Amino acid sequence: RAKASGRSGWEVHDPAARDDTADRLRLLEQLRHAVNDGQLRLHYQPRFDLADGRMAGVEALVRWAHPVRGLLAPGEFINVAEESGLIRELGAWVLEEAVAQAARWQDQGVDLQVSVNLSARQLADPGLRDWVTTALARRGVPASRLVLEITETALMSDPVTAMTTLTAFKALGATVAVDDFGTGYASLAYLRRFPVDELKIDRSFVAGMTEDAGDRAIVASCIHLAGAMGLVSVAEGVETEAQRDALIALGCDLAQGYHYGRPVPADELVLPRARGLLGNVAQLAAS
Ligand code: C2E
Ligand code: MG
Ligand code: MG
Ligand code: MG
Repeated sequence: RAKASGRSGWEVHDPAARDDTADRLRLLEQLRHAVNDGQLRLHYQPRFDLADGRMAGVEALVRWAHPVRGLLAPGEFINVAEESGLIRELGAWVLEEAVAQAARWQDQGVDLQVSVNLSARQLADPGLRDWVTTALARRGVPASRLVLEITETALMSDPVTAMTTLTAFKALGATVAVDDFGTGYASLAYLRRFPVDELKIDRSFVAGMTEDAGDRAIVASCIHLAGAMGLVSVAEGVETEAQRDALIALGCDLAQGYHYGRPVPADELVLPRARGLLGNVAQLAAS
């Protein structure tokens, strides 16, 4: 119980801060239980190709079906998982579940890439690459169906480890995306050296782009930069038609946001039509 006493929280004398520490410990205990007890869920948010309007993939976003507090968003528990190291188990569950879902879609003949978010701590886990490889092999999913998202901030917090891990993912054949781009401090010269495929423009810039000239300029230069570096540009947090049209005019590749669809459980997603022989067989079987 008192194993957490090495944490500086115990030395804090401010009673409010101590309450806070107690709350976090309680949350951590509950989360540990939740991971082992099947309380985690994945929701999927679609992303669309701006050139042809086709659904290109989905991003897996974790939720916690808390028995008392209801469905919690990652903002309520990811930090606690990160700080405690529980992110290792949580992240393994997310990967396993996302790959299993990718396999189900593959069986239905639905051609979708699945994006999974990785935290800084997961990136530094030497076992991560094997986890990914094993999960894909077990389900018979090619690595090309998997996108691994790393925030710009995580990338910069430990660039040496990030480089090693991203290089390994690329060697597997997975796609690597830089998430929340524009909010960290990655210099362009630096970014150039990382083996990344996708730039996800942070939604704070997308949100302001139709009213604020500065935000619009940032979005425009991210798209331009991605193009010049041979990367796919992705706008996150697209909420309006005006934003979508502005992004199309700027030549952005992909878009994701409430305008297209909120994150939902897999069975509530409106899927693109199945393609090819497998798809036809699946449709026949279903009819
Ligand atoms: P993110 O990867 O940048 O994911 C996008 C977030 O923006 C999601 O929040 C999504 O629900 C939200 N969003 C999408 N479209 C819109 C929009 O049009 N407007 C607005 N206002 N918001 C939009 P969510 O699901 O709460 O996730 C928050 C963050 O938690 C994620 O940001 C990601 O960094 C992290 N996260 C989520 N799932 C996982 C996971 O499985 N593992 C790890 N390590 N982190 C995760
Ligand atoms: Mg993401
Ligand atoms: Mg993001
Ligand atoms: Mg974001």
